[in-house]
Parts: sequence; C-alpha cells; structure tokens
Amino acid sequence: MDVNYPIMEQYYTIQGEGYHTGVPAYFIRIAGCDVHCWWCDVKDSWDGEKHPLIPVKYLCKQVEKSGAEKVVITGGEPLLHDLQPLSTELKKLAVDVHVETSGSSPISGILDWVTLSPKRFKKPLSEVYEYVDELKVVVLTNKDIEWAESEAQKCPKTTRLYLQPEWDTAESIPLIVNYVKNNPQWAISLQTHKFLDIP
Ligand code: SF4
Repeated sequence: MDVNYPIMEQYYTIQGEGYHTGVPAYFIRIAGCDVHCWWCDVKDSWDGEKHPLIPVKYLCKQVEKSGAEKVVITGGEPLLHDLQPLSTELKKLAVDVHVETSGSSPISGILDWVTLSPKRFKKPLSEVYEYVDELKVVVLTNKDIEWAESEAQKCPKTTRLYLQPEWDTAESIPLIVNYVKNNPQWAISLQTHKFLDIP
C-alpha cells in the first residue's frame, strides 16, 4: 500500500545552508510542526491538514525525473511523521537522504545525513543526538552561543558545528565572527539561497 504525506512543497534547488551549501538537492517539505518558533518563515507548514496528501510513489517519481542525487526532507518538523516508507523508496533511487529537524520527535527512516537545528524552548529528545551529522544553531545573543555549546557536547565528536545569524538582522554577525575565530571547531552557516534569491 502506498503511504501518503502532507506536502507543502517540493522542488529541485540548491542547498543554501550548512555543510552541503551549494550542492543541488531535491527538497520535500512535509507539513506539520509542533515547535512553533516565533521567527519561523514557513508558518504555512505548521498545519498538516492544510496541505495535500501526496503518495510516496509520486514523490519518488518527481525526484527521479529531476535527476537529483540528494533529497532533503524538511518541514515543518519532518520527524512528526514516520520517514521509513518515504526514505526506503528514495533509497531505491540511490539518492542520499538528508533530514533537517529540531529533534522534537524520534528519528525514523534510512537517513544519510541528519541536520539538527535545536530550539531552546522545545529541546530535542535525548535519543536524537547520537544521529546528528550537523548541528546548526541560529544565534542572536551570547545566550544562543552558550546553548549551542551545550548542545554540541551532546552530539558525536564528528558532528559538524555551525552558527547561523538570523537572515533579517546583521546584529549577531560580529559576535559570531569573533566566536568562530576563537573556537575554530565551529563554522558560520549563511542562508545563501536568500542572497541568490532562489527557493
Ligand atoms: S521548527 Fe522549523 S518549521 Fe517548526 S516553527 Fe521552528 S522554524 Fe518553523
């Protein structure tokens, strides 16, 4: 039986953030989010019931047609859904499957890359940390950097560490630059897709 997911949007584009910046990837944005960040720029994704249920077979067909080698499953909070059916079918296409999560729900599915973007007011589940390939923390103040360090302690030693300024304010950039210069295990992640004006 084909499984359906509520899909807000899906498109082939360029990964704009983090370790895979600049690499083409097919984005699947699954609707539904239980985190509700006040700064969220995809609030339309919060209510899963507002979006069409799309079968895995159809999603995989679109990925195949695009020629993408990487698929990024994002949201919303994609781990609110069991990603096993979708990721299993995607792996049959021999693509890398990435997920971007706040860690508010358990890991599911066959995932090649897990990006954790933790939120202070809804902390990740402790069982998520061991799977994290990339930790990305949005920074506005010193408190966010302290939070980023405490989250990094919970991740594997091999996890790539990123601090990211908010898109619409340059306020935290001097703080982040100074911190990364003095703590080179961290790097800066920018939302380059917004500079390039691509989705
Ligand atoms: S977790 Fe992501 S989708 Fe959910 S509210 Fe926060 S930024 Fe928006």
